[in-house]
Amino acid sequence: MSEWEALENECRSCRNCSLHIERTNVVFGIGSREAEVVFIGEGPGRQEDLLGEPFVGRAGKLLDDMLSLINLDRKRIYIANIVKCRPPNNRDPLPEEQNNCFHWLDRQLTLLSPRIIICLGRISAMRLIKQDFRITKEHGLWFKYGESDITAIYHPSALLRDPGKRPETFVDLKAIQKRIKDTCVRTY
Ligand code: SF4
Repeated sequence: MSEWEALENECRSCRNCSLHIERTNVVFGIGSREAEVVFIGEGPGRQEDLLGEPFVGRAGKLLDDMLSLINLDRKRIYIANIVKCRPPNNRDPLPEEQNNCFHWLDRQLTLLSPRIIICLGRISAMRLIKQDFRITKEHGLWFKYGESDITAIYHPSALLRDPGKRPETFVDLKAIQKRIKDTCVRTY
């Protein structure tokens, strides 16, 4: 059994926080296990819980459109969340839930060793970039996460609620595309 398979099997039986009680599926993550580029959201919603995949439904469709704008697709990247089970009523994951869950993502990132990480939304950026991250002011800026370059853009759900944020996100996506071209060996 590969390290990935062992990690996924272990994660799928996790009961480290109370989010396991109402979950239908653990949403482990999806994409290439050789990916140089990783997108990280906050947690599964209703459709994701039902299907066991991150970013399906309307927000997932918009994410796919955003990826295609910069010549990416799900097969060449990896997509995961800060917590792997759905918070009730789509509330933000609580700090203790994030703390209990984070080691799964940490182990995925260790296996992937990505060159570029893109946080989707505030919760992911506050966890991976800095606690006081302000998505309205700091989206599109670049930071380091270990050896990886890391940035944050608006969550697709936020773009569905407020289409006025889309032009800024288009600029951020184009900067991400350039960073991938300059940094990644296999993605382009
Ligand atoms: S959210 Fe994470 S820590 Fe909580 S039960 Fe699910 S996999 Fe385990």
